[in-house]
Amino acid sequence: MSSDVLAVAEHRRGELRDVSYELLTAGRQLADATGGDLHVAVVGGDTESFAEELDRDGVDAIHTVSEGEEFNHDVYVQAVEALHGELDPQVVLMPNSVNGLDYAPAVANRLDLPLATDAVDFEYDDGLTVTREMYGSKVETTVDVGGDQYAVTIRGAEWPGAEGVGDADVAEFDADIDTNTGSTVTGFEEVGGGDVDISEADFIVSIGRGIEEEDNLPLIEDLVEATDATLASSRPIVDSGWLPKNRQVGQSGKVVTPDVYLAIGISGAVQHVAGMKGSDTIIAVNTDPNAPIFDIADYGIVGDLFDVVPELIEEFE
Ligand code: FAD
Repeated sequence: MSSDVLAVAEHRRGELRDVSYELLTAGRQLADATGGDLHVAVVGGDTESFAEELDRDGVDAIHTVSEGEEFNHDVYVQAVEALHGELDPQVVLMPNSVNGLDYAPAVANRLDLPLATDAVDFEYDDGLTVTREMYGSKVETTVDVGGDQYAVTIRGAEWPGAEGVGDADVAEFDADIDTNTGSTVTGFEEVGGGDVDISEADFIVSIGRGIEEEDNLPLIEDLVEATDATLASSRPIVDSGWLPKNRQVGQSGKVVTPDVYLAIGISGAVQHVAGMKGSDTIIAVNTDPNAPIFDIADYGIVGDLFDVVPELIEEFE
């Protein structure tokens, strides 16, 4: 067994996802603690350009596996298993994303590794302990993972994305993938709400129950247009059917990390905050000065959104 760390990048529709760069930071942190190298795997898609983008500070080696375009469970499981066999790393790090949670358990099972999911932090000192959040982020638990080789999935937006230009060794890895597994990826279809991926947005205008009724949506859409932002919401808005599920921020929605998160008529429940606390700048508009959203907001406007939003639109226009 080596003391290395193997991080598995994630991409979709031709683009690396932010969590890939976060995996590099988390992987470097772990490799420094284990005293090993940081290896990165990128499976499928335009592996050459992905490898170029992933070659950032702290990365020692990048292994590309050229098989398929989009995510495919069977390909990922085989590729990670084969790379694990080659490198024998101490830790394999994967994203706690929909895709990651699809293949990580299979990888752990096939390699007989303990799997710790949804890590928000970890420590290595002759053994791995992983910090996880429970009960809607109200409680933190520290898990002693046990064993001496591990599989871990990390929560998005908990580590900053790696930056800088690295000088990693990049090599194609022949994982000897068997494509005759019975599953084929035939296409890619977004669920409702078109192509919008709020987790990639830089400026989010997010609405909550404070908007009262669906008929008030056009007012918010005017603000979205004036600010060139992406529209998102708390869960009640989605539950009411006013916006599609892919616009929901939070524990049972998406994790977002925009430069600006403008929360309008959102109280700031823990389940919502779990999905947006990594935003660079949080601005909140709420009539209630004691709303919990103000505890994490960088800027707060105590006021009625029906007065404040038209003024914001005018200002931005
Ligand atoms: P409310 O809590 O009702 O807040 C509305 C806010 O609007 C209030 O603070 C009020 O003061 C303000 N307001 C009212 N009128 C105005 C006005 N005219 N101008 C300005 N402000 C005004 N929630 C999520 O968002 N995402 C999740 O992923 C999620 N997952 C969950 C998972 C579980 C297992 C559970 C149990 C709950 C989950 N929830 C989630 C629900 C969460 O607990 C809250 O109920 C929800 O976030 C509240 O949404 P809200 O802030 O829009 O509504």
